[in-house]
Amino acid sequence: MHVVVVGGGIYGQTLSWRLAKGGARVTQLEPLGPANALSGSGDKSRIVRALYGHGPFADTGAASLPLWEAWGRELGVTLVDLRGVLYLEHERRGPADDAFRAYVDGGLAHLARLGRAVEVLAPEEIAKRWPGIHPAGLARGAFEPGAGIGFVSRATKAFARAAVATGRVRVVAAAAERVETAGGRVVGVVSSGGERIEADHVVVAAALGGVALVEALVGARLGVVAVPHFVSYWDVPWPEGRSLTSDALPPFAELGTGLYGFPDDGENGFKVAWHEPVREATGIDPSRHHLPPSDEELERLRAAAEKRFPALRAARVRGTYQCRYDSTPDENFQIGEVPGVPGLTFVGGMSGHGFKHAPAIGDAVATTLLGGRSAVDLSTFAVRLEPRA
Ligand SMILES: Cc1cc2nc3c(=O)[nH]c(=O)nc-3n(C[C@H](O)[C@H](O)[C@H](O)COP(=O)(O)OP(=O)(O)OC[C@H]3O[C@@H](n4cnc5c(N)ncnc54)[C@H](O)[C@@H]3O)c2cc1C
Repeated sequence: MHVVVVGGGIYGQTLSWRLAKGGARVTQLEPLGPANALSGSGDKSRIVRALYGHGPFADTGAASLPLWEAWGRELGVTLVDLRGVLYLEHERRGPADDAFRAYVDGGLAHLARLGRAVEVLAPEEIAKRWPGIHPAGLARGAFEPGAGIGFVSRATKAFARAAVATGRVRVVAAAAERVETAGGRVVGVVSSGGERIEADHVVVAAALGGVALVEALVGARLGVVAVPHFVSYWDVPWPEGRSLTSDALPPFAELGTGLYGFPDDGENGFKVAWHEPVREATGIDPSRHHLPPSDEELERLRAAAEKRFPALRAARVRGTYQCRYDSTPDENFQIGEVPGVPGLTFVGGMSGHGFKHAPAIGDAVATTLLGGRSAVDLSTFAVRLEPRA
């Protein structure tokens, strides 16, 4: 079987490697290289976890955690650092906090169902254990010890090397310009270099570039929109900055403010971002997503984070990483065969939280294409087409 994989981010690489390992011949199209700086997979770190209020995400998050470790051992590369993740929940200020409480309650129930450890902590316990955190306004915390940090760029490149090392993957440094069909079935792609590449199956895993390809073919919408996003890295003066290093603080997500981040790993500084990007709300043109945030945007972020981490008072930014989420309205993925187009699989709509699920979902998509029985149920992510307005 010959499969064309469009895109070389974490999903394109995972798929290419697992398909080739399963015996398929793969041609991968990726114009800018694995983990390039314009992709979602080009940054340093991502949160990996199983705590989710929504069951299917908890399932694939949990199924991926041991795979990250096992595949890292197989490839001789550290892909994750499972030092735990701390979720901070606010005291009730309004209905939004009720939703966050329900999310955490649901997440605790799913972790219990999956037999995974979690500790529920009062605000004073949080401050005692992690002195860099100011607990004002918190209702409780949930610490998931088996979760942690995923090294996104490193993992993408490790899988890219592993894919090529199978001897079954040809990489083409060009974009897929269009998907070709004959008799209603997909027969291949045409590259931006003009090469026609025939295939038994085409998998489009190219984030927003993939959305455009599929929508052009089917004449309908996938309901995936571009949401600009940036993360920031900070130098924090000591002695206060000592409380924000990776032996003194886990990665965190603060439900209620939308902040998430990572301790200083000794190389990159303290990392913080809004999960819900503020750029659209502030009227910044989304097409300028690849440009660094303004000084005002950075100061707004630092000031918000300082309320939880007082050591950030005197922090100075040392770098940013900006890209776009390929988001759906409910943050649910779009994964599976495109309705009405046999031979075409779409993997996208990862909505700013896709990295952690790549092993379980990538393996499941590859196994299904190879005719096997996938270990996880992908039906809840099935591709949903909307008529054009
Ligand atoms: C800043 C940020 C923070 C995030 N934080 C987290 C987190 O903490 N935890 C988590 O789990 N997830 C997180 N995510 C989400 C996660 O990183 C992404 O979902 C994931 O990396 C996307 O991988 P991908 O392979 O789908 O897409 P990408 O990595 O974007 O790769 C798509 C590739 O397709 C290529 N391409 C585009 N068009 C074409 C074409 N026509 N032909 C061929 N190739 C094409 C591009 O060059 C690109 O390399 C975050 C995302 C961002 C941006």
